[in-house]
Amino acid sequence: MTDPVTSATREPKSTVSPFSHPSHLSHLECTACGGRHDADRLLRLCPDCGKVLYARYDLAAARRTLTKESLALRPRGMWRWREIMPVRDASHIVSLGEGDTPLLRASRLGPNLFIKEEGVCPTGSFKARGISAAVSRARELGVTKVAIPSAGNAASALAAYGARAGMEVHAFMPVDTPLLNQKECVVYGAKVTLVRGLISDCAAIVRKRAEAEGWFDISTLKEPYRAEGKKTMGLELAEQFDWELPDAIIYPTGGGTGIVGMWKAFAELEAVGLIGPKRPRMISVQAENCAPIVRAFQRGLDHAPPWENASTRASGLRVPSAVADYLILQTIRESGGTALAVSEDEIDVALHEVAAREGIFAAPEGAATWAAAKRLYADGTLRPEQRVVLFDTGTGLKYPDFVQLDLEVVDP
Ligand SMILES: *Cc1c(COP(=O)(O)O)cnc(C)c1O
Ligand SMILES: [Zn+2]
Repeated sequence: MTDPVTSATREPKSTVSPFSHPSHLSHLECTACGGRHDADRLLRLCPDCGKVLYARYDLAAARRTLTKESLALRPRGMWRWREIMPVRDASHIVSLGEGDTPLLRASRLGPNLFIKEEGVCPTGSFKARGISAAVSRARELGVTKVAIPSAGNAASALAAYGARAGMEVHAFMPVDTPLLNQKECVVYGAKVTLVRGLISDCAAIVRKRAEAEGWFDISTLKEPYRAEGKKTMGLELAEQFDWELPDAIIYPTGGGTGIVGMWKAFAELEAVGLIGPKRPRMISVQAENCAPIVRAFQRGLDHAPPWENASTRASGLRVPSAVADYLILQTIRESGGTALAVSEDEIDVALHEVAAREGIFAAPEGAATWAAAKRLYADGTLRPEQRVVLFDTGTGLKYPDFVQLDLEVVDP
């Protein structure tokens, strides 16, 4: 995989280099009050109402160069969508080769079923996308110290990208975060603190200490650029399906960055003329013992009240309250999608089925999407002829506890 930063320096004038096209980032827009803000100020949430800010682009300008032909010729990776990515000067891009993950047919699970396999991303999960975008943009805006509350994979990714950017990284994780996530952070040189509590307790600590310590808080959707990285999953899906989006996307939802990011991506793709108005149904999966979005969806609420006593072994789904709850719920409803919760046992069974039938060792969060799909086929919500994408958001290799060994041992 070429390093976009190096290849940019090597061939700055090449017509196929994505870096010969500028970012058309124009401003930040509040998703709640509609307020418009300067994109070159270091902002987190909306200064007026405290809700989520989105990066906006001059899409008419982007349309001139962001063509199917041009995209196909560019070096692979999520930064090739340059015109609708937020970094202005390509030398600020911090990349480990994230994006352009495979879209695998899963015909032994279902006739028109696909798995978007994010476990191959650097640091083993799709968090690499969001963190690459956020760290790159933070570097461009002068940040040198970053902090994150994380269920595990976001901290791993921030530790790696932060190391590569020469930043100081402070990670706060629940004490029962998978061991490998903790070790990754340590090996990348991050300062790790374990918290006897949930990710929301970690977030409260970061929030309290960030200002005094001079940390930039990279919490999911509390700054505008992680969503820009994760939206590239939607951009890639469009291209991988030859610019005709699938019928449904099943997404394991924690903070919801991916689901709202992809929804944003589809609107941008339509505005630049790469796709039509057809959208997939966006289906959100959560774990039975931490399902705030599912509960709010079923009750017809616009916001999701925090979930009490959240617990699940699918650590990325252990998010009792999401700052973008209203955006996740809007996305599900606008798309004609649904939300459902699956049990720990269903996740366990699904993880083994995906591995043994398709050769993919999915993270439990990714496996939850197959558990959900089985239910949705059974109750007729999904039909076999529909093209359905499951998101395997990370590698199962970080969750060895899901596999019980009972092996025969023989003498030679
Ligand atoms: C963080 C995470 C999720 C949840 O992602 P969001 O976009 O925040 O909803 C799902 N799966 C894995 C493996 C994760 O690390
Ligand atoms: Zn606002």
